[in-house]
Amino acid sequence: AKAAGRDTHRFYAEAMNAEAVAHLSTRSGLRRALDRGEFLIHYQPQVSLESGAVTGAEALVRWNHPEKGMVPPGDFIPIAEDSGLIVPIGAWVLTEACRQAAAWHARGLSLSVAVNLSALQLQRNDLVATVTRALADSGLDPLLLELELTESMLIQNTDLVMDNLRRIKAMGVQVSIDDFGTGYSNLSYIGRLAVDKLKIDRSFVADLTSNHDSAKITAAVIQMAHSLNLTAVAEGVEDAETLEALRALRCDVAQGYYLGRPGPAEAVERAARQVNPF
Ligand code: C2E
Ligand code: CA
Ligand code: CA
Ligand code: CA
Repeated sequence: AKAAGRDTHRFYAEAMNAEAVAHLSTRSGLRRALDRGEFLIHYQPQVSLESGAVTGAEALVRWNHPEKGMVPPGDFIPIAEDSGLIVPIGAWVLTEACRQAAAWHARGLSLSVAVNLSALQLQRNDLVATVTRALADSGLDPLLLELELTESMLIQNTDLVMDNLRRIKAMGVQVSIDDFGTGYSNLSYIGRLAVDKLKIDRSFVADLTSNHDSAKITAAVIQMAHSLNLTAVAEGVEDAETLEALRALRCDVAQGYYLGRPGPAEAVERAARQVNPF
């Protein structure tokens, strides 16, 4: 029994070690990836439920690893956050997304671009400078930039976080709450922070047409958004029925595989030039 216990220990130690090694190699890989330009951005269209027009896109980072191929963000963002590398990676995403939206604008398309922020970025005193520089370098109208935050990032309402948000809002940049409904339930920050949009989490939208609770929650979030003068965005729309249900609920904007998968900027541009996809 003792030997078996030791074996079990050794087994766990080795398994942990393998994980630690993988973690470390991802970490040094991320540093290299940034230097070698292995990151790229896929854009997912956001569609107005009133007009059917593409009004903007969310920027979603991808890592095109030389051996592993396309690595999904879920496999490297947490490690980038632990190691602090999310700060330079996030700054790159912001710069590149602003450049893309400015290029769309120069080609006659007034599309907004939404960029995901990590907690670490929001807690830095150089965030405003980073956003200012991305806008200045690209020449993008601040009104066309949107920053996505999660509820959990806003419960640490330190002076620095509040000051960053206030200054970002003062620039005219839009702020949305991502994955709304899955995080902290204290809603007092919404009024205090003057956010612009609520993105209803995919988990509610996904079974909107089959689950009564999800339908109720979605309807309530849309109503709340409207009574606070905020835009309601539904993410994870995967079929026509869900799209119709959201239109009936007067949701403003929708995003999801049914309307367009994340892909190269050119695909968003093509979709935006098409007349009413409904
Ligand atoms: P998120 O911000 O909630 O992004 C939406 C995710 O849902 C994306 O996954 C997108 O591809 C996926 N999605 C979109 N429509 C549908 C749909 O109809 N059905 C389903 N099942 N999924 C859909 P992705 O690209 O793998 O990104 C995952 C997460 O990684 C993002 O979740 C975000 O939290 C994070 N992330 C991505 N890019 C960045 C970035 O540049 N910076 C930071 N900090 N985080 C990022
Ligand atoms: Ca997002
Ligand atoms: Ca989301
Ligand atoms: Ca999410």
